[in-house]
Amino acid sequence: MDKQKIYNFSAGPAVLPDGVIKQAAEATVNYNGHGMSILEMSHRSAPIVDLVTETRQLIRQLLNVPENYKVLFLQGGASLQFSMIPMNILKNGETADYTETGVWSVKAIKEAQRYGNVNVVCSSKESVYNHIPKDIELSANQVYLHITSNNTIYGTQWQKFPDANGFMVGDMSSDIFSRPLDVSKFGVIYAGAQKNMGPAGVTMVIIREDLIGRSGRDVPSMLDFAIHADKDSMFNTPPVFAIYVVNRTLHWLQKLGGVEAMHEQNKSKAKLLYDEIERNPLFTSPIAEEDRSLMNVPFIFADEGDETHFLNYCSERGMVTLKGHRSVGGFRASIYNAMPVEGVQALVQAMQDY
Ligand SMILES: *Cc1c(COP(=O)(O)O)cnc(C)c1O
Repeated sequence: MDKQKIYNFSAGPAVLPDGVIKQAAEATVNYNGHGMSILEMSHRSAPIVDLVTETRQLIRQLLNVPENYKVLFLQGGASLQFSMIPMNILKNGETADYTETGVWSVKAIKEAQRYGNVNVVCSSKESVYNHIPKDIELSANQVYLHITSNNTIYGTQWQKFPDANGFMVGDMSSDIFSRPLDVSKFGVIYAGAQKNMGPAGVTMVIIREDLIGRSGRDVPSMLDFAIHADKDSMFNTPPVFAIYVVNRTLHWLQKLGGVEAMHEQNKSKAKLLYDEIERNPLFTSPIAEEDRSLMNVPFIFADEGDETHFLNYCSERGMVTLKGHRSVGGFRASIYNAMPVEGVQALVQAMQDY
């Protein structure tokens, strides 16, 4: 049965490549000809150990991860990393610098305050996070500088990463694999899968080996990077199915030419949409031009307008989840890697026809 083509502009969980969804459906019936669903296979079985190992290697290749970093698959979402990173890295009394660029960074700040001295080095809160702050005063004694590379709710993105005195820690949940990245500038990179690389349930952590166990704190085993690294993310049952979908999504990305090719596609998709927002007198962007995200594109009516009416208009044309986050209103089109250019074209057409 063919469904009407739906373009899902959700901020997360978000669109995945069509082919990946089909492979995931097949794997739940019969995984790679093993005669069993992937959902019922032991994580200790050879095919699943191979799957996890291969996914880790794929990540290393796609992001050029240096040898002295571990790639981990954890649970608890990006949100647990807000705690786990300072808990494992920051000693009592040490300072970490945090940039405040949106609600996710505020949550990261709140958790880090339990484990050390948190210095909020910049904030765009007063302008409802509509830009990335340019004036940052780093602490001389910072252990690390935390950034949220893409602010999913507000539609801002660090186009150039700031310099750190120590190392950087990056929450890249909503733009990982969307552009090339110099991993070596970061001590830790983390991302929940459900924005740009798979389904909810698995969180990718890339961590420099010398930082594992740095704080010396006695932490619960499940929150200890050392244990997960030592056990190759198999300390307990990993979210095998979520890792499988990440694996297929990353193979899809690799076939397209990797993060460089993806970045070019993302730039042209975002340009299509921003050009229409600029051109169309009905709509406008609340976001500072130089900080606009390639992943999440918020827009609002230039004057008064009936938002529900436009959302319904789009929905009838097969374009869904375009409502802005409840904290900012308006509209938001999330155009992650897997959003085809046809989806963006359809939205631009709807904006013109409206
Ligand atoms: C969605 C999101 C989070 C929260 O992720 P969970 O996996 O739900 O914990 C954190 N940071 C950013 C930038 C996000 O977009």
